[in-house]
Amino acid sequence: MVVTGRGQLIELAKRTTCCEMCEAGRPDTSCYGIRVHAGRYTDAYLQRADVQRGYTVIIWRGRHVNEPTELDDAEASGYWAEVLTVARALIDVYKPLKMNYETLGNSLPHLHTHLIPRFTDDPRPGQPFPLSAQQPDAKVPETQLSADARALRELLDHARSPSGL
Ligand SMILES: [Zn+2]
Repeated sequence: MVVTGRGQLIELAKRTTCCEMCEAGRPDTSCYGIRVHAGRYTDAYLQRADVQRGYTVIIWRGRHVNEPTELDDAEASGYWAEVLTVARALIDVYKPLKMNYETLGNSLPHLHTHLIPRFTDDPRPGQPFPLSAQQPDAKVPETQLSADARALRELLDHARSPSGL
């Protein structure tokens, strides 16, 4: 879904039902990605879209919320701690120069964060990564995606969870 104007953005932000991320449940795989982390507070999916090596989306799991400000203190601590746990695994596997953390939710207002490694061959050095400008139909080859997902899961399965799980 594309946000075309202020009215639509407000309508999306107020939406509390018919949420694609809530309705999807917590699948191991989806048309968007492969789950590499299933935590107490979040699921993380290595993305199939070939926009950047290691591009991962981490999704809040719990009641539907649009904004991180809707979480209580324990939920917020758990959410951000798991974001950092997944980011550390991405750093270990992909060795980026920099990590970007984008919590947007303009087109799909359910709390989630885009984790985007940045490399020397970056398409836009010094600027936000041009996610929307990338070719959405291009996919990471399945063998590469599966190998990367295995490496990430191995690290994350052994990571000491900050939430104590
Ligand atoms: Zn939702």
